Amino acid sequence: MSDVPRFWRESNHRYRLVGTKCNNCGSTFFPPRDVCPKCRRESIGKMEELEFSGYGEVYSYTVVHDGLEPFKFQLPYILAMIKTDEGPLVTGQIVDADPSEVKIGSRVRVTLRRIREEGKTGIIQYGYKFILEK
Ligand SMILES: [Zn+2]
Repeated sequence: MSDVPRFWRESNHRYRLVGTKCNNCGSTFFPPRDVCPKCRRESIGKMEELEFSGYGEVYSYTVVHDGLEPFKFQLPYILAMIKTDEGPLVTGQIVDADPSEVKIGSRVRVTLRRIREEGKTGIIQYGYKFILEK
C-alpha cells in the first residue's frame, strides 16, 4: 500500500466521490454531469465540481453470491445503493461487514480499497467502496 498516496494524487477522482453541482437550481449529481437535466441550457457554465463528504446511508442492498470476474474471488459481497448526505444515490460495494450487519438506513462512509489486480502486469487498481460506520 506504500504507493497509494502518489497514485491517489494522480487520479484522485477515482477514490473521492467527486460529482457536480448546478449553481442554477442547486441540484447535485454523481457521477458528474456537464449539464443539469432540470435546467438544461440555463445550467451551462454554472456546473461546478463538488466533492461529496463520503458519508451516507444504505438505501437498498443485495448480497451477491455468484458473479463474474473481477469480483469472483471475493464472494459473497454486498452491493448497495447509498443515499449520500448530499442527495444523489451511489452504487457501491460494502466491505468489511457481514450481510447480517447491514440494514436499510445503516450509516456508511466511503473508503479506498483494492478493486482488482491485473493478472500479468500486477497493476493494482483502487477505487471507492463503503464501510459501515460503527
Ligand atoms: Zn439545475
